[in-house]
Amino acid sequence: MNNSQGPTSDNSPDHGGHGSHLPDETGTPILIVGAGAVGCLTAFKLGRAGIDVTVIECLPATSDSPRACGYYGPIQPILNELGLYELIRKEGFMTKGLCWRKKPKDDGKGGKVLGEMIAFQPLSAPDDTTYDVGNGLLNLPQADLNKLLLRAALGTGHVQVHFNTELVSILGNSDENGVIARVRDVATATERDLRTRYLVGADGARSVTRKSLGLPFPGHTWPERLIATNVVIKNELDPTWHTHYVLDRVHYTIATPLEDPVVGESTLWRYTIAAAPDDTRTDDELITDENILRRYEDVIAGPRPLQVRIQARATYRIHQRLAPTMRRGNCLLVGDAAHINNPFGALGLNTGLLDAEALGEALIMVLNENYPSSLLDVYSDERRKVFQMFVDPVSTQNKLRLHSIDADTAVEDDWYFRLMKDPSKLSHKQLEELSRPFNESWRTDMRALAKSF
Ligand SMILES: Cc1cc2nc3c(=O)[nH]c(=O)nc-3n(C[C@H](O)[C@H](O)[C@H](O)COP(=O)(O)OP(=O)(O)OC[C@H]3O[C@@H](n4cnc5c(N)ncnc54)[C@H](O)[C@@H]3O)c2cc1C
Repeated sequence: MNNSQGPTSDNSPDHGGHGSHLPDETGTPILIVGAGAVGCLTAFKLGRAGIDVTVIECLPATSDSPRACGYYGPIQPILNELGLYELIRKEGFMTKGLCWRKKPKDDGKGGKVLGEMIAFQPLSAPDDTTYDVGNGLLNLPQADLNKLLLRAALGTGHVQVHFNTELVSILGNSDENGVIARVRDVATATERDLRTRYLVGADGARSVTRKSLGLPFPGHTWPERLIATNVVIKNELDPTWHTHYVLDRVHYTIATPLEDPVVGESTLWRYTIAAAPDDTRTDDELITDENILRRYEDVIAGPRPLQVRIQARATYRIHQRLAPTMRRGNCLLVGDAAHINNPFGALGLNTGLLDAEALGEALIMVLNENYPSSLLDVYSDERRKVFQMFVDPVSTQNKLRLHSIDADTAVEDDWYFRLMKDPSKLSHKQLEELSRPFNESWRTDMRALAKSF
């Protein structure tokens, strides 16, 4: 297996770093399966604590697929503590918050203007241009964040990544003897067994780690598919709250900038639009130019004919699922391998990054500070609790709010829209009540928990 990289190379197998090999029979303290953003953040945390980590990734480089892009709430101070926040901010850009709108309406000149704003959620003051850590939405496409986190992990000098290398199965798994993982070189189909004290399954929603451990993935799949597109659009005006949801009984939509949406310039946006639940067309039929442009007519403001350039397109299914445990023996699950939810509210990757922080801290305490390994059960319980009590219900309601309420009566009918119609009128107590779960329930502070342990 020669697609490996040492600490100083970047994440493309074309850029040197060849020659390092998978660990020999003596093994590696930590084996992370999956070099996605969550696996890479876990590797970075452990590497900077001086713990040697081997990461295996089945793809030839980190994934470029269009997915998450916004980071807010408790992950910002964590990234700052880890010295990553400024790096991400430098590559990315900040926006002030988000809003909910009715569909665009005719401008009387043959074009359309943005639909009436139903409610908005500021994440910083409207006149804030500094965005202290914890304020505003930090934006960077997931693919770029992934590369940045991998570079940071490799830079610790304790992390190795092996691309084109996949986990096939878990052969042995016990507290005393650690884990034996069967891995395969994707290019040559050569298999070998790797010994590790702890295996971290960061291998996404279809996790081979989770399946090898015999763990089911209970929950449900929503009936409709989402059509995700990256599209270049000319920014006609500054709407303050760039990320916006468009309410609709069927084709509800989220639009969010992927580049700084400077007025007058053409920049990249993500438009994700729901297909009808009973639409029987194939995935390919849903993402034809014709179908996408028809959907855009309904949700993109601007002069007609629309001047847009579609750069990427995909359909995907959405789910709410949680594994029955995030620890089995010396194998741990993080991120999408353990839980998945719909993307409304950006509770997917952000939650995975918070898992990575908690698991990284727990493993540092067990490996470097002699805490008992039962701390890893606390990790599993607490992160599952976060999903059950916070991520699952909040993401579910975020989604339902987009299509189960009429846009015309949304403020009248729904307490949340009524409150957020003008958040400047909310009392300090009301604001605190709304933000408390995000500030207090989302992150897991392993050190604070260990005090009562
Ligand atoms: C279209 C879309 C839009 C989204 N939008 C948002 C959003 O706006 N906000 C948000 O917070 N979340 C969003 N999400 C969810 C978010 O993308 C996921 O929560 C996130 O990718 C989880 O990261 P992860 O590292 O756990 O898994 P992944 O990103 O899936 O990474 C897993 C890695 O493991 C590798 N791998 C898999 N199997 C193996 C194996 N057997 N051996 C070795 N390697 C393996 C994969 O190749 C991959 O690189 C979105 C998801 C989708 C699909």
